[in-house]
Amino acid sequence: MAGILFIISAPSGSGKSTLVNQLRSLVDNLEFSVSYTTRAPRGSEEEGREYHFTTHEEFERMVQNDEFLEHAEVFGNYYGTSRRSLADAKAHGKDLLLDIDVQGALQVRQRVPDAVSIFVMPPTPDILATRLRNRSRAEGGVEGEVIQRRLAKAKQEIENYREYSYILVNDILAQAEEELSAIVTCERILRDEHHVTAEEDRLMTLAKGCRQENAENRLRPVLAAFGLPD
Ligand code: ADP
Ligand code: 5GP
Repeated sequence: MAGILFIISAPSGSGKSTLVNQLRSLVDNLEFSVSYTTRAPRGSEEEGREYHFTTHEEFERMVQNDEFLEHAEVFGNYYGTSRRSLADAKAHGKDLLLDIDVQGALQVRQRVPDAVSIFVMPPTPDILATRLRNRSRAEGGVEGEVIQRRLAKAKQEIENYREYSYILVNDILAQAEEELSAIVTCERILRDEHHVTAEEDRLMTLAKGCRQENAENRLRPVLAAFGLPD
């Protein structure tokens, strides 16, 4: 079965890239959309692998030519998913994963209503701050102001969790990794009914527990820690 569009969003530092990288090694037939961005490459990032790095002028030209399925401004830079990513994945008979922010996810879900959306949350603001600091240190700079800005943005983004089909609380990494690949497996099985093996049944149960409507008990302490109502 091919052609499922998966969207994954998370506040910066929640562990989304870590989870997505692991998913790449666990799941076949899933392409990863390489977005366009006007931000500069970070660390070991390479053109065409993490992003297509582009100028404001080129990005603007692509917007004018309607080349984006969605685009948004995030932390002062522009990011966009090209329509061609989706067309290429379809042509290759692959599912496609979009790693995009909350604004982009809303645009895509309006255009592709059967897209499967996944929201990754950090367990608490303190843990998020620690992860942001650790990553920043590993990349050679700790900027307190940037971290404070990202924490405030995280709270705003988490407020949108109801827009997503699945919620992953990335507390214990191995558990979140298993849940993410279970969600992909489960959605494939739902679209391609066949005899379900005992292992697939276990994964479907795991994925069902992450559906937003079933994740209330896990969500409540996270929302409380961010000072949000449930
Ligand atoms: P994002 O892509 O959401 O911005 P990253 O994947 O870069 O986040 O993760 C941010 C930092 O947190 C990285 O240093 C990563 O190694 C670490 N990290 C991710 N998930 C976990 C986890 N479950 N437990 C502890 N550290 C984690
Ligand atoms: P970063 O600069 O840390 O790689 O990404 C910052 C944010 O931009 C993340 O939330 C990421 O999901 C989001 N992002 C990356 N690519 C796109 C895109 O093509 N469209 C949108 N809307 N957001 C994106």
